[in-house]
Amino acid sequence: MCGIVGYIGEREAQQVLLQGLKRLEYRGYDSAGVLVFDGTRFQRVRCEGKLGELEKRLQSHPVHGHVGIGHTRWATHGVPSERNAHPHLVAGVSIVHNGIIENSYELKEELIREGAIFESETDSEVVAHLISKELKTEHDLETAVLKVIPRLEGAYAILVAWEKEPETLVAFKHGPPLVLGVGKQEMFVASDIQALLP
Ligand code: GLU
Repeated sequence: MCGIVGYIGEREAQQVLLQGLKRLEYRGYDSAGVLVFDGTRFQRVRCEGKLGELEKRLQSHPVHGHVGIGHTRWATHGVPSERNAHPHLVAGVSIVHNGIIENSYELKEELIREGAIFESETDSEVVAHLISKELKTEHDLETAVLKVIPRLEGAYAILVAWEKEPETLVAFKHGPPLVLGVGKQEMFVASDIQALLP
């Protein structure tokens, strides 16, 4: 059980994500990370350990942009490390995941047979690979996600961003909660209402 937050709007995403993650930190201390679209490309910053480590790194190397996703991890598959920290990023597709993909081993074997190279030991990374594979033939993120959902077994709340469609975040869930905050010219999404209260 971890914490996930997403933001799209006019504010600096880094601030909103950090503020939300601080309120979710009780859900995972193994690593933390954010990914922000800077107007040209995704900027990703991840750290092993508590959120304070990520905050320090972002103070010295801030990421600027108005769309982003963030995560605090409670490891279930793969050791606590920067490599296993979310957001995962595969060919411009980035995801944060709360939960467990029960059939991740089968999916991973299939993807490796097809030539996929995995960077982490997590169950979550398979989701980024599957979506990225669909995006070779599909042209929008939502359609690609809808094709992947029937393949996933387990409990999950997931946020997805795609560098080629940077004004969109797709959120989907099966089991764990996801809360959507609708503002004026901005949207928030998180695994717990605590993250949105400010
Ligand atoms: N199963 C994923 C992992 O181990 C997500 C864990 C979580 O919900 O924090 O990275």
